[in-house]
Amino acid sequence: MTQTATRYETVIGIEVHAQLLTRSKMFCSCSQPTLESPPNTHVDPVCLGMPGVMPVINRVAVELTIMTGLALNCEIAHEAKFDRKNYHYPDLMKGYQISEYDMPICVNGWLEIDIDGETKRIGITRVHLEEDTARLQHATDSSTGEQYSLVDVNRSGVPLMEVVSEPDVRSAEEARAYLQALRQILRYIGASRANMEEGNMRCEPNVSIREPGAEFGQKVELKNINSFKHAFDAIKFEEKRQAEVLNSGGTIAQETRGWREDIGEAVQQRTKEGSEDYRYFPEPDLPPLVISREWVEEMRARLPELPDAKRARFQEQYGLSEYDARVIAESRARADFFEAATVDGSAERAKTVSNWVTGDFARLLNAENVEIQDARVTPEGIAALIDLQEAGTISGKTAKAVFEEMFASGKAPGEVVEEQGLEQITSSDEVVTSVEKVIADNAKAVEDYRGGKEEAIKFLVGQVMRETRGRAGPDVITELLKEKLAEKP
Ligand SMILES: [Zn+2]
Repeated sequence: MTQTATRYETVIGIEVHAQLLTRSKMFCSCSQPTLESPPNTHVDPVCLGMPGVMPVINRVAVELTIMTGLALNCEIAHEAKFDRKNYHYPDLMKGYQISEYDMPICVNGWLEIDIDGETKRIGITRVHLEEDTARLQHATDSSTGEQYSLVDVNRSGVPLMEVVSEPDVRSAEEARAYLQALRQILRYIGASRANMEEGNMRCEPNVSIREPGAEFGQKVELKNINSFKHAFDAIKFEEKRQAEVLNSGGTIAQETRGWREDIGEAVQQRTKEGSEDYRYFPEPDLPPLVISREWVEEMRARLPELPDAKRARFQEQYGLSEYDARVIAESRARADFFEAATVDGSAERAKTVSNWVTGDFARLLNAENVEIQDARVTPEGIAALIDLQEAGTISGKTAKAVFEEMFASGKAPGEVVEEQGLEQITSSDEVVTSVEKVIADNAKAVEDYRGGKEEAIKFLVGQVMRETRGRAGPDVITELLKEKLAEKP
């Protein structure tokens, strides 16, 4: 136990920014850039911040925000408003960012996380929309040593949804669970790719510590976090640092710290003198955003089944274990694949499909770093493979080999079986030949078995399986072996 854990309580609120999966940007018709887009190729006068141009609200961005709010159990405002947040930095083309200040689209929600087998509810303060900034790239001239910055405006104006939590998170473990649960929901809805490594989901935890029951302590904002691991490590670092400051009689400064993965520390970026004055005022070029109840209900109807509900249904409907249900429902694509492959809907078939999806299939996907929706294996392919095995056409061992070939080539299982001659031997004549050969070749094991060492038969079964290249089932082989071994030599 660290001193932090024994003496202080950690209090964390988390701000998450997620780039929305819309075709065009937030206030102009530019298409969204991809990670491969050359710099400054997705720009127009609006996102370049030219004077005299007029922004237009992206309807899909609003809809994705409403859906996210509904998934996070928020109240959806009847009227929201865009405001100008004024500050000067080279990544801000207009000198202000269009955001939502006091009238966000969604308020007062919650998200449940699982922590040590317990369910905990984390409050959601608000979900609002804003626009992303341009990207700056800092460089140094190799001949003069002069430092300069390059601006890529592609990202400027990309719809950004901000989800702000209540200070309900109490540990780095809870913060990680919260971020994972939020990412899962954003992906289920199709609101965002929500990939922290790619930067389309970014998080800023506000961390403070206090004596249990005391007032909130001074919070420190953590930035530059590009993965769940960074978030976890930065919070662990910060709670320890703050405890050391307090224990040595110091006070916590109001500041922003940036995580440095290379040194494993959150280093001071800037101190804040009081709250910054962004001189917010209503965006005069945009009308208030009126959100009718009909629109909200339309969005509610469009919501997919969410992870928690799906997990519960998989346990109930297919009798999956809690663990299997959780793994299968981890992504919507995986859950859809599972259900499509469970053609007859029976619990027995569901368990077999679940074993494939969480077993060999998951292993190969991980090894190749492929998402299930991009794999060559189809739900129909898995279903056909299971049919072949259940009909006794192929053995379980052969099924694994067939599956590897399906995964590599995208071929149907029937095709693989035929091409490679993998059909299980059903005529016992062929097996009998192998059995006789193995008995003749393994005098020692035969003698052991006949002398009463029943275990010896396992070795002989293995030899026949090798001889028949796994195409004969162990039960058939065992039966034939016993028959032959019972005959007097
Ligand atoms: Zn544009």
